[in-house]
Amino acid sequence: MSEKFIPIFEQTPASKIWDFPLHLPPSSGQLFDRLHRPLKDLRISVTDRCNFRCTYCMPKEVFNTQFQYLPHSSLLSFEEIVRIAKAFIAHGVTKIRLTGGEPLLRKNIEELIRMLSQLRCANGEPLDLTLTTNGALLGRKAQALKDAGLNRITVSLDALDDAIFKQMNDVDFPVSEVLDSINQAHAVGFKSIKINMVVKAGVNEQEILPMARYFKQTPHTLRFIEFMDVGSSNGWRMDDVISSAEIRQRLTKAGLALSPLEAQNRSDTASRWRHADGAEVGFISSVTQAFCHDCSRARISTEGKLYTCLFASEGYDLRTLLREQNEQAEQIARIEYAIASIWQQRSDRYSEIRGSAQAVAKSKIEMSYIGG
Ligand code: SF4
Repeated sequence: MSEKFIPIFEQTPASKIWDFPLHLPPSSGQLFDRLHRPLKDLRISVTDRCNFRCTYCMPKEVFNTQFQYLPHSSLLSFEEIVRIAKAFIAHGVTKIRLTGGEPLLRKNIEELIRMLSQLRCANGEPLDLTLTTNGALLGRKAQALKDAGLNRITVSLDALDDAIFKQMNDVDFPVSEVLDSINQAHAVGFKSIKINMVVKAGVNEQEILPMARYFKQTPHTLRFIEFMDVGSSNGWRMDDVISSAEIRQRLTKAGLALSPLEAQNRSDTASRWRHADGAEVGFISSVTQAFCHDCSRARISTEGKLYTCLFASEGYDLRTLLREQNEQAEQIARIEYAIASIWQQRSDRYSEIRGSAQAVAKSKIEMSYIGG
């Protein structure tokens, strides 16, 4: 059997990245990249571990007992995450999403949420603080997350049929426990939970209708996601993709016709649609309708590397700057300078050039390492 190469630990020596000027400029308030896209959203991966082995994200044959996860000392501490978050906020970030791996596996995650919830955006408003989870631990943590100041939750759920769901999560985890978790989160005050369903042809496409019918009766918003070529280990093929247009056609045929809704924010990943009774549905069409032109997202990996695209092959080491022995003000100024110099050089638009020679040549970082 041939060995798979997983480009998790690519090396970018910090010394090669920045040449700090003697006098560091003040933070920008708002950064724009080379395609004039503002920096607005930050996704922070808090762990590279997960309790599921979803076949499209952390397939068992790669992420097995031999797999080397990051040692604890490599992970950013909560204090370091907060310092990084402050630097991003100084450049215009207003929304932070915690991801993983499975973020609820990070010990005392509610303490990190409490610390982040005390930060304020440049205009004095609280951050929009959200988290994506597979739902396995959500029920028992929901109250603590709410009390800590988490605003919103997204739950990944790919099927309602137990056999299909277990086959996809590959750890025999039942659907009923995820649904219970969603109910418990709602009961403690998370009002509209987003439910993300990755649709893969021949695997869970028969779940499109049951999922649509089930979540239409709830206050939550189901979002269909086109199966993407994230990372290098999920064996993606275009034939595995069921387009958002095709999903809408199937819904219409089954008597669930949708009509489009206005976007709330330009940078939203999902297009919004509604059922005849008003229930909302979202579509994330990264493959067939790329939305790179409005992408305002930066990502921080579990060990503190900055990535400017979900499909990036190279990250920039901010952890080294965090662990330098500088005065805190000097350290923050250096991190802000580094973020600015990286974002202003950014020209990523992988989904728009997918399939081109330029895109095919890249070896991509795994989603479990930088979050979805
Ligand atoms: S492919 Fe990269 S640039 Fe395009 S929307 Fe996704 S993360 Fe943003």
